[in-house]
Amino acid sequence: MSIIKITKQFSFEMAHALRNYDGLCRNIHGHSYKMDITLAGQPLHDESSPKNGMVMDFGDLKRLVNEEIISLLDHALVLNEKNDPQLIEILKQNFEKIVVVDFQPTTENLLNYIADKLKRRLPETVKLCRVRLRETDTSYAEWEE
Ligand SMILES: [Zn+2]
Repeated sequence: MSIIKITKQFSFEMAHALRNYDGLCRNIHGHSYKMDITLAGQPLHDESSPKNGMVMDFGDLKRLVNEEIISLLDHALVLNEKNDPQLIEILKQNFEKIVVVDFQPTTENLLNYIADKLKRRLPETVKLCRVRLRETDTSYAEWEE
């Protein structure tokens, strides 16, 4: 049986700031991210299963990505932990969704973060093979394995 790739698209609104960056993105600003998750696997061949013919139920994939990624990052401000701790504390006291990460929150680094979280949750029957994260109409990065 052939390996089939399936892709589901997601979107979320997220703010970030790139610490020490030599351009406008050092300021707190947001993007409307578009994310494509691609899985590879063999379609289930089991007439008795409701998932017969599927690599993974798109609904199950949607639920998993919403739980792991979207609920965390949508309408969040993502900051590098190396920012002033007082600033992070004040932000946390005043806003609900402040996500502090141990990396510079670029699209490239977010991809590694997202891929790691998803790989831990996906069933063994499928393989995460690509995550594409689009930051603007003209810019995106891809994680591939
Ligand atoms: Zn940005």
